[in-house]
Amino acid sequence: MILIDGKKAAAELRAELKEEVAELKSKHNKVPGLTVILIGDLTPSQIYVRNKEKSANEVGLKSEVIKYPNSVEEKTVLEKIQELNSDETVSGILVQLPLPKHIDKQKVIEAIDPSKDVDGFHPMNVGNLSSGYESSIPCTPLGCYLLIKKIEPNLSGKKAVVVGRSNLNGKPMTQLLLKENCTVTITHSKTKDLKAECLEADIIVAAVGIPELVRGDWVKKDAIVIDVGINKTDNGIVGDVHFDEVSKNAKALTPVPGGVGPMTIACLLKNTIDCFKRSQI
Ligand code: NAP
Repeated sequence: MILIDGKKAAAELRAELKEEVAELKSKHNKVPGLTVILIGDLTPSQIYVRNKEKSANEVGLKSEVIKYPNSVEEKTVLEKIQELNSDETVSGILVQLPLPKHIDKQKVIEAIDPSKDVDGFHPMNVGNLSSGYESSIPCTPLGCYLLIKKIEPNLSGKKAVVVGRSNLNGKPMTQLLLKENCTVTITHSKTKDLKAECLEADIIVAAVGIPELVRGDWVKKDAIVIDVGINKTDNGIVGDVHFDEVSKNAKALTPVPGGVGPMTIACLLKNTIDCFKRSQI
């Protein structure tokens, strides 16, 4: 079984991006800029943002974090986004989720200029992705896609099952696999026989949030299994896939931690650079 090393893949991607940033700097005399807006003091959000800033600096991006207290008015955030939309030094804008209850998430997402939407959540990017046009692609599914392609460059005709239909993971993942000419089944909490669906799959992407849901006898021999889940349990962090059982059947499997997670931030940097490149055309 191939253990898909997300840490290594992310380090390789960051090294490529670092070179690309250096080339862009010598060509345009400026570097792509990422601005993150962080509202409130949730510890996981603070950790994510710190890691994003550190990785952005590592590859040579211009990086800025704007912090607001939990009590900030929605209007203040929307005005700041407008200011960043027209700031030429800002290539990508990310508002760290979740937001305090009094701030309308969708309003905030839609305020970001789609050409600077490095999370790929703006309806225009969602539509472009589903229409097969160029767009920002949500970072976690993009990371899963790059890991799958490393194992199997030609996905045409493969059967893929995506477990979970969130806007963040399942739906964009489905679009990426469709674009690669996979035959995709998207499953969710109302799916009748999830085991039977998974047993058909050459590729399984699990993004559910239920610890070790996907069992060893759900997986066809030689399937590629990507585990997006991050679940805190009494035994530590586990994924949505039962690692010990599935590793006995699968051709390739991502561990948790150390699989999809590290790719997510690397893909955020990639999206920032791609937004910059599109803005220079
Ligand atoms: P989410 O928004 O809660 O969506 C979960 C999806 O799973 C929903 O579509 C739900 O179906 C489906 N589901 C629930 N129970 C199911 C069942 N028994 N069988 C089949 N499908 C079922 O979750 P998310 O934001 O996509 O996150 C999923 C997991 O990924 C979480 O563990 C999260 O922490 C993790 N995550 C990891 C990263 C990373 O960087 N590695 C990034 C983001 C998220 P319905 O639509 O019918 O409710």
